[in-house]
Formats: sequence, structure tokens, C-alpha cells
Amino acid sequence: MQEENCIFCKIANGEIPSKSIYEDEEFRVILDLGPAAKGHALILPKSHYANLFELPEETAKKVIVLAKKLGNQMMDKLHADGFNLMQNNGEAAGQTVFHFHMHLIPRYKDDNQKIQWVPGKPTGEELEEIQKQIIY
Ligand code: AMP
Ligand code: ZN
Repeated sequence: MQEENCIFCKIANGEIPSKSIYEDEEFRVILDLGPAAKGHALILPKSHYANLFELPEETAKKVIVLAKKLGNQMMDKLHADGFNLMQNNGEAAGQTVFHFHMHLIPRYKDDNQKIQWVPGKPTGEELEEIQKQIIY
């Protein structure tokens, strides 16, 4: 199902042109217009799911398999030195387009990009408290 006014629904379903590198019945994979590095691509499901939590399990599994296949291809063809998989959920986490997408980011030794965080310094007690809260 598509959502009205969702740009990634329109791109995924071919209603807005994009630089596709892969397409099947369920997904389109496009080049990101604001790439972190050469070859940065986005896996878009053709159906609208706002984020990971709305994505059906079967679709989520296929996303990872596709990421692995295309990641291999990118590493090989673009002579990348590394590879980041990224996926943002919610504004607080940096999501700007609210249609699920997985970032595929080939990385190069000299790409001068930083995809990193400042590490915190929790005490052992603080870690235990969090562990109790989220243990599954
Ligand atoms: P996120 O911040 O995880 O929601 O990522 C959104 C990504 O979509 C960013 O990397 C943008 O550069 C990219 N983006 C936004 N609009 C387009 C578009 N029309 N075509 C290709 N990439 C886009
Ligand atoms: Zn959508």
C-alpha cells in the first residue's frame, strides 16, 4: 500500500524518476541524492512502512539479504574499503523521510566521512539498571 504524498512511495513505484540500481516486485534500490560517500544507496520497499517497527518480519529479512548482495556488488565494483549499513527511526534518530529505508554506504580509506558518536561513560550500576529495563 502506498501513502499519499510520500516521496519514497512515488520513487519506489517509479512515479518519480530516480537512479535505480536494483528493482524487484517488492523493492527498488536507488542512489541517494545527498550521498555520504560514492555509491551511497537506499533500499526502498514499494509498500509504505514508516519505519522499522512497521516493517513486516518477512520484509525485514529480505532487506538484510538484499543489503548483503548489493553490498558485495558495491565493494567489488567500486573498490570500497568498508561498508556501513544504517537505518534511522524517528526524528530524534535522524530520520528525515518517514518511509522505511536502509542506507547502504560504501566507505573508502580517504572519504573523510564520520558516522560515529561520542562514547558515554556509564557506571556498572547504570548499565545494570538499563539491563533490567530492557532485558528481553
Ligand atoms: P534519513 O535521514 O535516514 O531519513 O535519510 C533520508 C535520505 O534520503 C538522505 O540521505 C537524503 O539524502 C535522501 N533523499 C531524500 N530525498 C531523496 C530523493 N528524492 N532521492 C534520493 N535520495 C533522497
Ligand atoms: Zn511511502
